[in-house]
Amino acid sequence: MNLVQLRIPGKAVPPTPRRGFLPTTRAEMKQRGYDELDILIVTGDAYVDHAAFGPILIARFLEARGYKVGVVAQPDWRTPDDIARMGKPRLFVGVSAGNLDSMLNKLTAQKKVRSEDQYSPGGRTEMRPNRATIVYSNLCRQAFPGTPIVLGGIEASLRRIAHYDYWSDSVRRSILLDSKADLLVFGMGERAAWEIARRLDAGEPVQRLKDVRGTAHVIDDVEEWQRIAAAPSKYVTDGLPVILPSYEEVVASKRAFSRMSQAFQVETNAQNARPILQAHGKQAVYFNGPALPLSEQEMDALYDLPFERAAHPSYRKEEVPAFETVKESIVTMRGCFGGCTFCSITEHEGRVIQSRSSDSVVREVRALTRMAGFSGMISDVGGPTANMYKMTCKDERIESACRRLSCVHPGICSNLVTDHQPVIDLLRKVREVPGVNRVFVASGVRYDLAERSPEFVRELAAHHTGGQLSVAPEHTNPRVLEKMKKPGIESYERFAESFCKASEKAGKEQYLVPYFITGHPGSTLADTVELALYLKRKGMRPRQVQDFIPTPMSMATSMYYTGLDPFTQEPVHTAHELREKRMMKALLFYWDPKQQPLAREALKRAGRGDLIGRGAHCLVPPEGGSSFPAYGAGPPQRAPRDLKTRRLRASTRKRRPS
Ligand code: SF4
Repeated sequence: MNLVQLRIPGKAVPPTPRRGFLPTTRAEMKQRGYDELDILIVTGDAYVDHAAFGPILIARFLEARGYKVGVVAQPDWRTPDDIARMGKPRLFVGVSAGNLDSMLNKLTAQKKVRSEDQYSPGGRTEMRPNRATIVYSNLCRQAFPGTPIVLGGIEASLRRIAHYDYWSDSVRRSILLDSKADLLVFGMGERAAWEIARRLDAGEPVQRLKDVRGTAHVIDDVEEWQRIAAAPSKYVTDGLPVILPSYEEVVASKRAFSRMSQAFQVETNAQNARPILQAHGKQAVYFNGPALPLSEQEMDALYDLPFERAAHPSYRKEEVPAFETVKESIVTMRGCFGGCTFCSITEHEGRVIQSRSSDSVVREVRALTRMAGFSGMISDVGGPTANMYKMTCKDERIESACRRLSCVHPGICSNLVTDHQPVIDLLRKVREVPGVNRVFVASGVRYDLAERSPEFVRELAAHHTGGQLSVAPEHTNPRVLEKMKKPGIESYERFAESFCKASEKAGKEQYLVPYFITGHPGSTLADTVELALYLKRKGMRPRQVQDFIPTPMSMATSMYYTGLDPFTQEPVHTAHELREKRMMKALLFYWDPKQQPLAREALKRAGRGDLIGRGAHCLVPPEGGSSFPAYGAGPPQRAPRDLKTRRLRASTRKRRPS
């Protein structure tokens, strides 16, 4: 076991990782020899003891620092009794809605209730409340009066400033105010959670924890926050905290909201981000600079913790779908420097890539091969993006000073080291581990980077693709791609060509599975018609099309709500009407008879009735027409449905490619 202390100043607690599940009941506390918990973690997900479940990663990390940690997963939210079942914790309660925002987890882009909750046993949908962070936090306050409450996880992190909430179609306050918690941890929470635990343990009251990186707190007094707003920042020598437009201003003015989004976005590089303050009435929320990224040694220590890699036994035979997707996959890195506007990974995990060593990854693969029931196949080796492993800016000093929002848009920065050798070597090592028969890459491949490494593409095609590879061109229109901050379609086409050639050379029949987004800000019905025609020309029948969902705090959501590009303040067309959004999606399913009535309606609305008919140029047959118009060149891109690809498809569901 490779155990390293995170470099946080002050008293170090000896690492004490233990096997077995963390306690979830009084009886399990007794078995572990605990009379009392130090820290209680409340999560909206099922308890799966695996590093892919964020609240559990933090719980395990804190336990390894010497704290007695218990878990209450998916508590009954109608009464505080369930949360209180293990008693009041000595230091604090950590509250998380789980791996996803609870509203996104519950509702689709069409605001319909999803049929499955991937993070609940049996996929059951009634296991967590809407706005779980707020509900759990208020229950904790009732159950444990006086105990510090610390929010964490995606929902808290991405609702930390005033934000647009798609599901209620309103601008909401910082979640810290609505939940009445003491602190909010944003981004990846290891360093902040440990510093909070350490300082509370040393006797500091929670009211004094106002300077922990990666946390936010509320300032109740107007005079106090005005004084803080005028004081130099602790983290940068030459700047005052950034004052965002207040909650009241962003509710009253879409232009103010857009300016807030832009100002917030440029303060995400932990090396140079300034603290942020946002007033809400007489109160203000103060955000310290983000936590510093983990080093390779620290990443190894984290992922080397003794996870059970299993769902808690109390679920008996009920599977947790999200776990089934990741249980034979390996995380190699975190962070993303892509800066796609519709995605919040960069805001949450940071722009700096934090990678594990290949030795640590191989250790985990070996452990996986020893697990009962291991299939011999690693379903994924990757992270937010498959091929950003160990990629970095060429100079730490340049990176520390850099305030660009993306290292790859509008073009690949000349300072970015795009060497694919580390990921190639890693994949070779993993497939040589005894007991491993196949190793797939199901995380998204960033093709503008991959096309710089023919060797990586060859390895990918020859060894790591189970019939199909997911990539995400997202759109074809340069204007729309610019709003998404994605590379041009030519880059995708070049990559597709080299991947097909490499597959042929390897003697394999393999296909690309391209992902597209409809309804993204900047995209009109006419643009979507052009995209559908492109797909038809290329003989592509996408099986998965994402209807754009305005998730909290992304740049694309800001465009959706305000109709303004936050970077230029220019107007952006956005489809708001749910039917128009459905029509856009139907256009990309032009080949599906069930979608054709809506696609016909879309074509008529776009003034392209000429594309309804039986001619080779047509997109859909006329009403009542049973025959399908002739295809353009090339076979439809459909993958064979064999067992291997079914497994791969399951693993691709966990995240969209980059
Ligand atoms: S200088 Fe270029 S490579 Fe370095 S951090 Fe900035 S954008 Fe990324």
